[in-house]
Formats: sequence, structure tokens, C-alpha cells
Amino acid sequence: SRIPESPESEAEIAFEGALRPANLAEFVGQAKVRLQLELLLKAAAMQSRTPDHILLAGPPGLGKTTLALIVAEETGQPIRLTSGPALQHAGDLAAVLSSLVPGELLFIDEIHRMARTAEEMLYLAMEDFRIDIMVGKGAGATSVPLELAPFTVIGATTRAGLLPNPLRDRFGFTAHLEFYEDGELERVLARAARLLDLRVDDAALAEIATRSRGTPRIANRLLRRVRDYALVHETDADEQAVQHALLVYDVDALGLDRLDRAVLQALIDRFAGGPVGVRSLAVSVGEEAETVESVVEPFLVRTGLVTRTQRGRVATQQAYAHLGRALPGGAVP
Ligand code: ADP
Repeated sequence: SRIPESPESEAEIAFEGALRPANLAEFVGQAKVRLQLELLLKAAAMQSRTPDHILLAGPPGLGKTTLALIVAEETGQPIRLTSGPALQHAGDLAAVLSSLVPGELLFIDEIHRMARTAEEMLYLAMEDFRIDIMVGKGAGATSVPLELAPFTVIGATTRAGLLPNPLRDRFGFTAHLEFYEDGELERVLARAARLLDLRVDDAALAEIATRSRGTPRIANRLLRRVRDYALVHETDADEQAVQHALLVYDVDALGLDRLDRAVLQALIDRFAGGPVGVRSLAVSVGEEAETVESVVEPFLVRTGLVTRTQRGRVATQQAYAHLGRALPGGAVP
């Protein structure tokens, strides 16, 4: 399945690489997580041991991969990149684990999507730096223990809640990444504009920031669209250019994209504002429940358009106002 906020093309991957902060000091925002990570890495360095396993949780585009690469930079250790979907058999994971050098970092993106058998192998490996490899088939099969070099797993997930407890418990530290404040996104954007040699005025940066869903990846992506717009229309990259460009790309005044709006519309128009379960909402917009739950919903909740209740999701008055719908009962918000 496609996660809407993941990189869309080779060009975007290269672009993101160019904008990635290289160390903790350059990493904007997430002050708490930075402090926690700093402590964890420093303590490990003082005791000359591998740092505890680290779980990075939060919606796409908030900096999980970036933080993993920064840990590699700060510790001077090599890092191996893989992902849950690439580990569909225990053997896939055994091959990776047995080839790690001492102290190596193993980044597993979308770690909640690993196969169950690989998961079980991983939490034993994380605990004891040892795995059991099955040799032979049928009645003659035996398991052979294999010692591993000490390593640190850095897992990334959009939903820490989807990890089985035994795996979650093996992480010494879980960082919960939060959506960014507008001021922080302005700093991300100012840095990107500088690195890309773009002239964008402050009002334009502020406007892009408020429309970026609290997400650095989206902020950088919108900056590129505004640059394109200014280039093609031979105008300055000013606030007006931002308004026009974002109209073209279906980003509304609160930063909602098409999927966000589709979910909100379904909630109001088809489910009378709720309460409704996230699965029914997902089905009605033709998306996977996981995407609606881990990407769309957190943003709608943080923006105050949706609340979670025991019986399901409910649209708030602001949601009716934002979509220009009359409140149930006929009142105009
Ligand atoms: P995730 O792995 O959580 O999906 P990434 O680490 O790939 O997100 O970040 C996406 C993009 O956003 C990268 O290009 C990165 O440069 C930028 N970015 C993310 N967090 C920050 C931050 N705190 N400061 C500056 N840039 C950031």
C-alpha cells in the first residue's frame, strides 16, 4: 500500500537526501527527543557499549529516517537500512543479522510490517545477540545457535501500538515524534531555501509552514511547488505565489490534502458527523484503515477537526465550519 507522505520518486529521494540535517544540532524541533537521544548516546559512549535499541514512532515525514542517520553520524558507526516489508522470512533477517559488524546500527523502517517469524527471531537477537538457525528439514531438522556481533536496532513505525509487546519491550527507548509547530517548520523551510539557493520572503515561508500538515517532508515538498510556480509565472516566491501554487495542488488553508478532506467529508456527509469506526471511514474513502489511522486521523485530531471517542470518531464544529456544512439540526456554524 502507498503511504501518501512517503517520497514519491527518485528525484524526491535525492532532494530529501540533500536537505537532511547531518547532526542533532541541525535537527529542528523535537527538543525532548533530541535531549533523550543525546543522553542515551553519551551514556553508551562513556561505557564503551552499544546504545540501547531505539524505537522511533510517529506519522510519516517527521524525521525518523533522518534521526537514524544522525545517530550513525553521532556515534561514528556504520548503519544498515532495511524495512519490515523486506523481511518476510526469518531467513531474510538471519542473513542481515549474521553479516553485521560489531557496533553496527540496523535501521528497520516500517518495523510493524515484518513477518511474524522474523519478528520472533529479532527480539531474541536484540536480547541476547544470538539467533537459532534451523538446519535441515522434517524430522532431521535441528536448530543451531549462532552468536551475533553486538548491534543496535533503530526501528521506525507509524504506529507503535501495532508492535507485539515482546518486541516493543526490547526497545530501551521509544521516541514519540510530534507534529511540528509552524515556527519550527519555518526554520526547516528557511534552511531548505538556503540550501537550494531559493529567494523566498518570510511571509511566504510562514504561509507554507501553516499549510504543511505539521510535517517537514510536506513543507519541503510545498516549497518546491512554490518554486516551480514562481519560475513558470516569472513572479517572486511571495505569499501570493504560495496561495496560487497551493490552490493548484489542492492544499487548503489548514493544510488538508485531498485524502484528509475526503475522510472529513465522509465523516460528515455519510456518517452524520459520527461516531463512526475508523475502518468504516477508510472503506468509504477507499483507503486502507492503517493509512487513515496512522496518517490522516492524527492530523485531523491535532487540528481540532475530529475527536476520538469510545464509540468512534466524531466531527467537531470546526470541521463543519471548515467544509462549509450546516451543523446537524440546521444551525450554521
Ligand atoms: P520519516 O522517516 O519520519 O518518514 P524523514 O526522516 O525521511 O521522515 O524526513 C523527511 C524529510 O523531512 C527529509 O528530507 C528531512 O530532511 C526533512 N526533515 C525531517 N525532520 C526534520 C527536522 N527536524 N529538521 C529538518 N529537516 C527535517
